[in-house]
Amino acid sequence: ASACADLSGLTPADIKVREQLAYVEASKVEGKNCANCGLFKAAKPCGSCTVIKGPIAEKGYCTAWAPKAA
Ligand code: SF4
Repeated sequence: ASACADLSGLTPADIKVREQLAYVEASKVEGKNCANCGLFKAAKPCGSCTVIKGPIAEKGYCTAWAPKAA
């Protein structure tokens, strides 16, 4: 498992949000990923997200993706 897949610190409700927003560790959407999402906070080895708790991968994606403010 990747370093950003550890959900052990999350509550069941937190995990449900990840599922409801269809978070994945590797985006399949052209041009959209966590690294270029306005809700992403970069960190190593895993970033974080304003709307989803837990580790977030730069290459990830979810349906709450929003462009960064210009
Ligand atoms: Fe990634 Fe979704 Fe969070 Fe944007 S909102 S950083 S796409 S998990």
